[in-house]
Amino acid sequence: MKRLAVLGQPISHSRSPAMQNAALAALGLAGEWHYEAIEVGVDEFRSRVAAMPAEGFVGANVTIPHKRAALAIADHASAAAREIGAANTLSFLADGIHADNTDAPGLIAALPGDPAGMRALVLGAGGAARAAIWALRGAGAEVTIWNRTASRAVSLAAEFGVIALGEGAQPDPTSCEILVNATAVGLASGADLSIRQGATFKALGFTVDHLTNKLVVVDLAYGADETELIGTARNRGATTVDGLEILVRQGAASLVIWTGLEPPLGTMRRAVNLNFHEPRSQSPRTPPPGSRPRGRR
Ligand code: NAP
Repeated sequence: MKRLAVLGQPISHSRSPAMQNAALAALGLAGEWHYEAIEVGVDEFRSRVAAMPAEGFVGANVTIPHKRAALAIADHASAAAREIGAANTLSFLADGIHADNTDAPGLIAALPGDPAGMRALVLGAGGAARAAIWALRGAGAEVTIWNRTASRAVSLAAEFGVIALGEGAQPDPTSCEILVNATAVGLASGADLSIRQGATFKALGFTVDHLTNKLVVVDLAYGADETELIGTARNRGATTVDGLEILVRQGAASLVIWTGLEPPLGTMRRAVNLNFHEPRSQSPRTPPPGSRPRGRR
């Protein structure tokens, strides 16, 4: 049996085992490969990973809080992992541990069209924002960063050679074609929209009027309910990409690294939604104005 896992803390909520085992079954590999969730604390991360190859593991996804440590432990790292400064995918091969970052290609794959030449506004300056900025800049988008703590946006912009909104500047989604929420803002505590009405926009510093039908809105946050940003953007005619689609795309890219096989995206989407809510429309159907469809859907 070839073993795979997701390592994190906490990890019991992770949808990756359901998603990856469904994918492995659809590929006819259920009897040969298995994916599990393993809770790993910060202090034990290095020793836990070092023990995995001898236990039959061929690879692992890595999530909060271990993405930087995963890069540090690797013998070989992809350019994406090195430049982002974090890895979410490890492969245990004969010549050592290989580290990759599939959050970046996962984001680009989830977009409805080629972002080259488009203006992208990324909200946030944490780990998810780093991968989003690296990915969008590498794909040829013109990237601007806004963050609650402006100084973090400014230093991130200097590191990646993009634009930052400075202290006191508010983000204006009408000035871009792609809006990416890579902050922790947006997870509702309840399904009642009236409870959370407006909370997202208050925290992110713009209003619903800034969300137009010309925008592609990507929200990395996801939970049991749709986020306020995604629900509002869709109601206002924007093309939306939610955090579950991003999860599916990064997982699909990891699966390709491990198996070399074409990932069954439909199966993976159904699996991440199962037991939570009915599958949503994950794939934006209308490319944003000016985008070049890639025909990969
Ligand atoms: P992180 O490194 O802790 O960064 C958190 C970011 O959120 C920072 O920019 C922080 O701003 C901002 N923030 C937190 N609370 C805020 C508030 N009340 N108002 C405004 N900004 C606030 O976290 P991360 O790893 O980047 O993750 C960010 C989000 O992406 C999380 O929701 C995570 O679940 C999601 N994510 C999703 C996927 C996926 O596959 N869908 C993958 C990775 C991450 P300050 O700098 O001012 O503190």
